[in-house]
Amino acid sequence: MGERADRQLSQPRARIISRVILSEAKRSRRVRRLRNNNTTEFLDFARNDREPKRMNNKQTTERYTISDLEHWSDIARSSDPPIRLGVFGDPVAHSLSPQIQNAALRACDINMQYARFHTRANELRSALGFLRKLDFVGINLTVPHKVSAVGQIDAADELATRCGAVNTVHLRDNKLIGSNTDGEGFSRAVRHEFSIDLRDLRVLIIGAGGGTGRAIAWQCALENCERLVLANRTPEKMSELVERLRPFFVAPRVLGPVARLKALAWDEIALRAQLPDIDLIVNATPLGMNPSDPAPVPARLLAPHHIIFDCVYAPSRTRLLREVDEAGARGANGLSMLLYQGALSFSIWYNRDAPIDAMREALTP
Ligand code: NAP
Repeated sequence: MGERADRQLSQPRARIISRVILSEAKRSRRVRRLRNNNTTEFLDFARNDREPKRMNNKQTTERYTISDLEHWSDIARSSDPPIRLGVFGDPVAHSLSPQIQNAALRACDINMQYARFHTRANELRSALGFLRKLDFVGINLTVPHKVSAVGQIDAADELATRCGAVNTVHLRDNKLIGSNTDGEGFSRAVRHEFSIDLRDLRVLIIGAGGGTGRAIAWQCALENCERLVLANRTPEKMSELVERLRPFFVAPRVLGPVARLKALAWDEIALRAQLPDIDLIVNATPLGMNPSDPAPVPARLLAPHHIIFDCVYAPSRTRLLREVDEAGARGANGLSMLLYQGALSFSIWYNRDAPIDAMREALTP
């Protein structure tokens, strides 16, 4: 992966480095000029320069659309630092990816900016088409684009192909190359939140047919988790996944008569039968993003032995997590997953370790 990524990234990386050097040179010239000519203006400039966080908070509340991409040269002229990265989604206003990615860009002295793009399902193809012609480094994809994007990019790496879902796109020679960092981001987040590895867990994924659910299911298989149970509102959307995961679960591991790999209808009777043999419950649906959403698992099925990972992070305490507390179980929202999957995306775009402390700090209230 390292060597291939190196080859993939060498050109954009050279462009990035030369831009960073150029912008640093421009900044030094401006500092010299202001210092010599006008003290007040110099002090203002120096203060703004020391407060990138405040400047950036203003910028990252903005949301662009497909028509902005269509007329990108107007926006590109006025954006400083230039927008070269972003997230496509619907909804997207809640996304904290700009917060962590912009912190990472600043920490690495990369003179670029990451923005939100409100992109509806039927606009994805055109939006990706525009990207091919623009000087972008890459893009993240969120709900509802991860699965449909697979057929709309030029190539996907092995993991994204396996998952049938893409959350990170990297532009190379005007080609869109897809990857997936959700699974590994999730695994790191579970370890961080609960001090346990997937291989020691019996996992239930609700929303296993969606982009995030598929990536998490593959990660569980690759890490040889004890047991994997998949549930989805539309069961046929996970049939192919189940067949492809089956070879990973042939060896017996769990005690008792329960199957190591199982697909369920998403209903209370089926969940009730499985939950005594589950440790980790994952919500990989968007349920919880709206206050009026029902919880993905009825509260009466939760027990103190369960640990619950809710991929939703906005709001930070969903109805599910409130009910987890009431049941005496342990839970975590998706903020740590956001951090780790975002750090992995950054590494794909820039072929370097992400400044994880700066990214984490950007999420600290
Ligand atoms: P997606 O590809 O659109 O998949 C959505 C999944 O949820 C599908 O399985 C869908 O079932 C199910 N679903 C949607 N609405 C539902 C409803 N009203 N009732 C029951 N099931 C429903 O979305 P995604 O990109 O995987 O994102 C899923 C969630 O994870 C989003 O909230 C996203 O923000 C979150 N997420 C968080 C992180 C993080 O870093 N914390 C990372 C990735 C995703 P059907 O197949 O039946 O349509």
